[in-house]
Amino acid sequence: MRICECFKSIQGEGLMMGVPTFFVRTVGCNLSCSWCDTRYSMEGGTEMSLEEIMGAVGDSPRVCVTGGEPMIQPDMPELLRMLVSAGKQVVLETNGATDLSQVPDDPLVMISMDIKCPSSGMADRMLKGNLRLLSRKDQLKLIVADDADFDYAVRFLDENPVDTNIIFGPVGGTGKLDWLVSRVLDSGLDARVLPQLHKIIWGDRRAVRGLHGHLHGRLCILAALEDIVNLGGHLFIAFLRNARIDEPSAVMCLYPQFTKAKGGPSEEGPV
Ligand code: SF4
Repeated sequence: MRICECFKSIQGEGLMMGVPTFFVRTVGCNLSCSWCDTRYSMEGGTEMSLEEIMGAVGDSPRVCVTGGEPMIQPDMPELLRMLVSAGKQVVLETNGATDLSQVPDDPLVMISMDIKCPSSGMADRMLKGNLRLLSRKDQLKLIVADDADFDYAVRFLDENPVDTNIIFGPVGGTGKLDWLVSRVLDSGLDARVLPQLHKIIWGDRRAVRGLHGHLHGRLCILAALEDIVNLGGHLFIAFLRNARIDEPSAVMCLYPQFTKAKGGPSEEGPV
C-alpha cells in the first residue's frame, strides 16, 4: 500500500476531535477539490506492506486512516479488518466518491464521509448509495464556503435523509464560523458546527508537531526544517528530551514540501 505518512497527533476533526490518534495517510485521490489542503499526498510516498503498517501503528488504541482517498487503495478493506481484529478504534476518512460496501460493519469503525458541495467542483461525484451504510456511530461532513454551498447542503440532506451525525465546517477549517453557526441555527438542522482543531493549533503546517511516529518499523521524529529553525538549536534538543526520543534507531524525517519551499533539500519522501 502506498503511504504518504504515518504520525501520532490529536484528531483534528469531527466527533473524535482532541483525542490522541495514530494517523495513516495514503497516497492519491480520485477527486480534485478546488480547496484541497492535502495536495502533498497526491503522489510519491513509500510502499508499505499491511504488516509494516500494523507495526507502525503499534499499541496506539486509535487509528485514523486518511488521505488523499484511502479507499482507492485495493488493500484498504483488508487493512481495516486487521485493525479491527487488533481491537483498534478506527476512523476512516473518505470523500464519499468511492464504494464503501467493503468497509467492515463493526462498532469499532467510524466512517467519516464527506458530501462535497458546489464550491469544491466535485459535488456531482458523490455516490449516494454510501449513505445507507452510515449509522449513529458514523459522521457525515459538509464543508461549505458560502451561502450557495450551505443552501445546496440543506437541499441535499432534505432529499437524502440519513441517520448519522451531521457536521458542518467552513472551508479552510477555521474561518466564517459565526456565519456558519447562524446559518445552521436558522436552518433548524440538528447538526454540529465544528472547526478543524489542528488548523487552529498549527495552521496549514503539515502533520506532526512535537510527536513521534514510525516509518518502516523504526521510531522516527517527524519534523520539518521550519519547526527546527523556529525552535532554535537548544530548544529543539530540549524538545527531543521532553519527547523521550532516545532510541538509538531514531531517525529524523524531514519533509521536502517544507524544505523545498525554503530552498533546502529536494529529496522525494521522508529521509
Ligand atoms: S477528496 Fe480530500 S484529498 Fe481528495 S482532492 Fe478533495 S479535499 Fe483533497
